[in-house]
Amino acid sequence: MDEKSIRHLLTRLSIPHQKVTYTGSKQRTRWMTVSCPFAPWTHAKKTDANPSFGITIKDGDRSAYKCLSCGLKGRLSGLPTRLGGYRKADYSKIRKWAEMAEFSASMNRPLPKWEDADPVAIDHNESSERHVEGTVHSFPLALESRYLRKRGLSYIDIVRMNIRYDHYRQRVLFPVYDNSDVFRGFTGRSILNRKTWTKEIPKVKDYYGLNKRELFLKLLGKHDGIKLVGEGLFDFATFVRFGYLNSRAILGTALTDEKISILVDEAEPVYFFMDNDLAGWQALFGNIDKDGELETLNAWAFRLYREIPVWIVPYKTRLTGEDPGSISSKEELDRMVRSAWLFTGEAPFDRAGVPTLTRRRRA
Ligand SMILES: [Zn+2]
Repeated sequence: MDEKSIRHLLTRLSIPHQKVTYTGSKQRTRWMTVSCPFAPWTHAKKTDANPSFGITIKDGDRSAYKCLSCGLKGRLSGLPTRLGGYRKADYSKIRKWAEMAEFSASMNRPLPKWEDADPVAIDHNESSERHVEGTVHSFPLALESRYLRKRGLSYIDIVRMNIRYDHYRQRVLFPVYDNSDVFRGFTGRSILNRKTWTKEIPKVKDYYGLNKRELFLKLLGKHDGIKLVGEGLFDFATFVRFGYLNSRAILGTALTDEKISILVDEAEPVYFFMDNDLAGWQALFGNIDKDGELETLNAWAFRLYREIPVWIVPYKTRLTGEDPGSISSKEELDRMVRSAWLFTGEAPFDRAGVPTLTRRRRA
């Protein structure tokens, strides 16, 4: 976020910023430092006379904050919600403004080389909201896609998920919305044969600097019901197709604090429906380190189960490489979801000590 916008945000949050200090240089990260707004709650002296709350100034990119005194840190666009939590104030409008300011900043950033040939005419003079709207619609709905038809998706499914098509790069595009339903970019799946996937033509390619650290693939709007969480685009498509409209795709299996806090904030049970392979198992329950110990620090199930109910949707046989996207009927999906088991802190191994996403528990 540029300095002007940062100051505007600080004003709206009643954080004094007449006196600031700067560190860093134009070439590297530039910091602007003010008194920590969390000081009344997090500092021993209740004040921060010697300003220690730094904010990164980034003209074409997202900013972060960090207090060198109390250690609180995060994305600048998340500051309103966090501060509002301490002050008992509703800053959701300010948060939306901040997210939009950061989003348009990242949109105006020079696009990386791969996107140079982008057929989208971007009109930077339009207001950000109309601009965003226009971007979604600059690709046609993928109604003609034989690929999607082959994957079992009907017209209604395509419209419901708003799947678009990029003729130029031959990709089906899933629009990604954040939790305020702001469009944040596309994740595009190549429909070319897997033999043609290369580093230059990857299977999945994101558009407009999609920030997967803090985004799930989800349907636009609020939906109720069981929240299935899978890994990839077609896992998600399968969930939605068979009526689980509240579902998410992780978009890569990395666990981030942002994603964890989204799920915790929503306070709904999650039903993890991972791919039936080692990667899926490790994402949920962790890695076996070289001493044979289970390392669970970054495992989804362990990170979440004390905060919200975590259900694991099991497979019949262990590690067969199946994924939810290969499920072909609603009955089958329903049956698997019904047999989900509640995770209570014990990672599943079979009798031989092999990790498993099946129902079999430790012998
Ligand atoms: Zn502080």
